[in-house]
Amino acid sequence: MSEAAAPKGLTLGELRAAGRKLHAYCTDDCGHERDLDLARIALPANLAVAEAGGRLKCRECGGKRIYTLPADGEAEAGTRKPEAGKAK
Ligand SMILES: [Zn+2]
Repeated sequence: MSEAAAPKGLTLGELRAAGRKLHAYCTDDCGHERDLDLARIALPANLAVAEAGGRLKCRECGGKRIYTLPADGEAEAGTRKPEAGKAK
């Protein structure tokens, strides 16, 4: 599949400043997903949103292949995951 790399422009700091959350999706095993409050996770503000997943770990399965994007999907609409049904 041709998955265009997410733009490096948007950082966690910008996301937090905009009052938006980080949506994290476990691609490892369980498909667990959740919105993370950036005020409550310890990641560098200058870290690109697309790179944040490399710093996270799934709370359900412990997997480390986490896919991250802005929670509202606005900036990267094409990459938004469909609702899994058991969100939250
Ligand atoms: Zn998982």
